[in-house]
Amino acid sequence: MPKVNINLSPQQLMEKLISIQKERGICFHSLIKDSDKIIKQITEINRLKAEKNAIILAHTYVIPEIIYGVGDFVGDSYALSKNAKESNAKIIVFAAVRFMGETAKIICPDKEVFVPGKEDGCTLADCITANDVKRLRRKFPDYTFVCYINTTAEVKAECDVCVTSANVNKVVAAIPSDKIYFLPDKMMGQNLITQMKKEGINKGIKYYNGTCYVHEEYTIGQLLEAKKKFPKAKVISHPECLPEVCAKSDFIGSTSQLYKYIQGSPDKEFLLLTECGLASRIKIEFPDKRIVGTCTFCKYMKSNALEDILRVLTKPLARDYVRVNEKIRARALKCIDAMFKYAEA
Ligand code: SF4
Repeated sequence: MPKVNINLSPQQLMEKLISIQKERGICFHSLIKDSDKIIKQITEINRLKAEKNAIILAHTYVIPEIIYGVGDFVGDSYALSKNAKESNAKIIVFAAVRFMGETAKIICPDKEVFVPGKEDGCTLADCITANDVKRLRRKFPDYTFVCYINTTAEVKAECDVCVTSANVNKVVAAIPSDKIYFLPDKMMGQNLITQMKKEGINKGIKYYNGTCYVHEEYTIGQLLEAKKKFPKAKVISHPECLPEVCAKSDFIGSTSQLYKYIQGSPDKEFLLLTECGLASRIKIEFPDKRIVGTCTFCKYMKSNALEDILRVLTKPLARDYVRVNEKIRARALKCIDAMFKYAEA
């Protein structure tokens, strides 16, 4: 995952963000009003990081002050966890949501992991429990249980193979079983069925009924309306979007894949059907690309603030720590390792 490499002082960064905000709009921020306070917070966090041998992993959906001011790496959940593992840091501050912090803890048990956000949930990770999976396994004993990375450690421990939005199609295609139970995202399950059919792969796929409240917001009506208004715009969407929305998209991919698609595309206009954070990154990093239409924001991701990061680096609260029971961690790790086996097959 890309190392955040903006090379600006906190003052220069704020000037840049404020000018982009005025020219192109950055969703969800308080940059102008709080500029002096933000500069002080960024300076102090960077001092504390060096003092405590900590790194900050910033998911693309968190606010730009975190990504560009204090983040060491930016990206999506699994790649960031790998950055955590490869780092020599003792402390990992994962500016994202709880299940992502848990994934980092599963992969690097010897590091202290913190999730600073005030609301660290996720409608996908919170919609299914380990007991739900046990019940489903009794009902469908001959199915291979595949879980999206957006699940708790307990749920991963009950499943056979984990997937990310970047590798779901590849991993499911490679699993030597023609009966797959995919959980928890209904949309991703439906999009997976469509993709398997397209590739001529014949598997019986059942899926759970969870949704991401951010991505399910985009409707086919909005998409068609935007296409009329911006006929040249490429429509790119996340696989957590509705199947009919994905069917009308020019490209479907994980946050990182969408970013790379825009980066490498000769096109200049994009209708981006995912969380607002990606639109903000594109506006900040690619001045020649234009994002049209609207975006939706995730209240959980946006609950990470600089003051929360300062707290975990000075006086963390009990809820800031990420703890995973060792037996659960070992079983969840097997589920994640199985993903690598199939993704690299
Ligand atoms: S955007 Fe959706 S999937 Fe991602 S953390 Fe928010 S609720 Fe969960």
